[in-house]
Amino acid sequence: MWIQRTPDEVSQWQKDTEKQARADGLMMGVMIWAVVVVLLSTGWVLIFQVGMGAQSRWGGRLGTGLPIFALLASPVIFIVRHYAEKKALRKAAGRTICPQCGSGGNGNAGATCKCGGTFVVASTMKWVEK
Ligand SMILES: [Zn+2]
Repeated sequence: MWIQRTPDEVSQWQKDTEKQARADGLMMGVMIWAVVVVLLSTGWVLIFQVGMGAQSRWGGRLGTGLPIFALLASPVIFIVRHYAEKKALRKAAGRTICPQCGSGGNGNAGATCKCGGTFVVASTMKWVEK
């Protein structure tokens, strides 16, 4: 059955959720950063290859360009992480549950469930075996 969480458990839930959101946000930030670095480096090398027409001379510069672009693109991690974290927290906060039948919902706290129960914010409830 679903029972109400104590205030301590609710704050613990919030801490866990924030931790999870931060970890997920960081992972997403690093992934997007890696894509940006590869795109920038590839584009940079292509521009020089086409512009200079000296492939052998500039093609070898990819190795030296990569750390520069990695550094230049690093704020991407923090920007992506910031938004991903906010989004995850908003989603977690909007999650609802009907304590009567266990149906999940989103952003519909206080709404009436099909079973006649009322949706409540999921963070305030926990499942225990009878
Ligand atoms: Zn229900």
